[in-house]
Amino acid sequence: MPHSDDFLAVHDPAATRPVHAPAAGSGRWWGFAVALAAGLLLLCALTWLVSVQRGLASLQQGTATRADRYAATLESTLDRYEFLPALVSLHPFVRGLLAAPADAQRVAAANQYLAEVNRRAHASATYVIAANGIALAASNHNQPGSFVGTDYRFRPYFQTAAGGKMGRFYAIGITSEEPGYYLAQPIEAGGKVIGVTVVKLNLEWFQRAGSGAEPLMVSDDHGVIFLSSVPAWQYRTLRPLPPALRAEMERTRQYHGRAVTPLPLEPLASPVTRWLADTTLAHGARLVRVRDEGAAGRTTFAPDGAERADRYLELNRTVGPAGWTMQVMAPLDPVLANARNATVAAALAYACICLLLVNWRQRRQRARDMQYSRRLLEAAYDQLERRVEARTADLMAINEKLEDEVAERTRAESELRAAQDELVQASKLAALGQMAAGITHELNQPLAALRTFSDNTRVLLARGQLDAAEGNLTAIADLTERMGKITGQLKLFAGKARPVQRPVALRAAVDHVLALLAPRLGAVTVSVAGLNAVPALAVRADELKLEQVLLNLLGNALDAIDAAAPAASEHGRIDLEVQAGEHAVTIVVRDNGTGIAPEALPRLFEPFFTTKETGQGLGLGLAISSSIVREFGGQLSVANVTGGGAQFTLVLARAPAIDAAPSVSASP
Ligand code: ADP
Repeated sequence: MPHSDDFLAVHDPAATRPVHAPAAGSGRWWGFAVALAAGLLLLCALTWLVSVQRGLASLQQGTATRADRYAATLESTLDRYEFLPALVSLHPFVRGLLAAPADAQRVAAANQYLAEVNRRAHASATYVIAANGIALAASNHNQPGSFVGTDYRFRPYFQTAAGGKMGRFYAIGITSEEPGYYLAQPIEAGGKVIGVTVVKLNLEWFQRAGSGAEPLMVSDDHGVIFLSSVPAWQYRTLRPLPPALRAEMERTRQYHGRAVTPLPLEPLASPVTRWLADTTLAHGARLVRVRDEGAAGRTTFAPDGAERADRYLELNRTVGPAGWTMQVMAPLDPVLANARNATVAAALAYACICLLLVNWRQRRQRARDMQYSRRLLEAAYDQLERRVEARTADLMAINEKLEDEVAERTRAESELRAAQDELVQASKLAALGQMAAGITHELNQPLAALRTFSDNTRVLLARGQLDAAEGNLTAIADLTERMGKITGQLKLFAGKARPVQRPVALRAAVDHVLALLAPRLGAVTVSVAGLNAVPALAVRADELKLEQVLLNLLGNALDAIDAAAPAASEHGRIDLEVQAGEHAVTIVVRDNGTGIAPEALPRLFEPFFTTKETGQGLGLGLAISSSIVREFGGQLSVANVTGGGAQFTLVLARAPAIDAAPSVSASP
């Protein structure tokens, strides 16, 4: 039978399929985890890039639409005013003024006209400058900061117009301190410029055209931002100004009183942003950053002064005849926030999927383990079953053998019992023989005496000696009584066993036994002690069986005394002592016979144990006696007496006292 404790691969020769352990998965788990992490990174990067790309495209589209709208608004405004100075120049009041600049009436008419035109055109100011650069009339002639009399020679728009061309210029007013767009139209007469008409427009409303969140600015051809929805960016420059240009601006007082400093606006230059710009942006759109100048700079963009970099999508449009650039700056933060959210969502979704995947893998692994365990169990079960079958077959064989042996033993036992029964029968026959011999001996003598007495009596009767005959008859009666006693005891002995237990008068039983043994006593002294101490002492027993026991004990004692000193049995002595206890009665039978050899002592109560010569004893007496005593619930024990002889002790249950009379009257 194969014995296997190998749990990794159970292979039973009888089973055709071996059971293999599922592969250990710690290394594979690591690989799996690394792959999941790499997948997560890749997914995040891709999600972020795609989201940013899409966000940028949509932002660009929206911003472009708005930029076009802003540009169109500005352009149409500029267009609307483009011809106003020319129209004003043609008016007779203007012409008249230039013909006679000192004529107060003409000046007043011109002033009136200019004020009216200015009001209707919603311009900031409209004025006429003489060829020498001094303003002759102005729409604000009657206001505190009137332009009348101001020298405009240094202003580029005047210089351009004086040169015969249309002058366009954005600057801060030197008198009003208000910024504005100056349109200057030369007034010619006879091929000569005799004066210049200027219309000044306030364009600051445009700064508020865009939404607050999306900076909007307009810069001039030098890159100086003159309109901006972010106040801090106004009068900053997008490009460094060359010193000559800066000096020129100082001279023309274009941005009068403002220090034009560069705005820290730069394109985003990281490879990712460059790739994004290349793949997504078009039409001059750029990704830029306006760096926070912090507390050290001139302007703090963040109100809390914290370090902050604002990133924008910048869209440019060229507007107006002066070559201005309009820039719409759409913040990138919403795009980036959206991309971040999308990335986080994708990562979460991915994590969920990963968890499901891990869970699924674990379940599969567990299922595989369970399947493996089940197969192991099945294999072990198969083995066990085969072993059990084999063992069962062995056991059945052994069982059959045992049954045979038991049958053999039973047969032997019944044979033995038969033999034992035969022996008992033989012992009974032997005892019967002995008894028959004794009785014959006992009866022969009185019978002979009877014959003699009856013969004598007949003679005496014939002689008429009636007295003597009566004496003989009395002797005959005595003899028959004695014979009756002998046969009566025989009847008693042969009586059927009565298993009933009842109170037996001890005295009567002892007397009967002694009477039965009287022929054998000869010179042996028998003393009975303790019987008279308790009147009518009784034990719980069966009368006949108790007498059988006592007869056996006393008979054995006589045998031992005979064996000890056959010639001097007059020294023989048997003591019968009775001790009555509260619940038990002890009867001791002591003799001064041979005593018992130590090796014979333990075997004394065995059936067929005898030391007597063949024909003398069968070794059944004590065995039967002890079984009778046990039947009574009593005890029978033996010991040697110091100084020679043996002592048998019989203990029986005490019974209520009864009179000895009924027991004695049992004899006929
Ligand atoms: P049996 O008398 O037929 O031998 P028993 O069973 O009555 O059978 O006695 C068994 C043996 O016990 C006797 O052979 C004898 O050796 C021994 N025995 C019994 N009583 C005495 C006694 N009082 N003294 C010495 N030996 C005894």
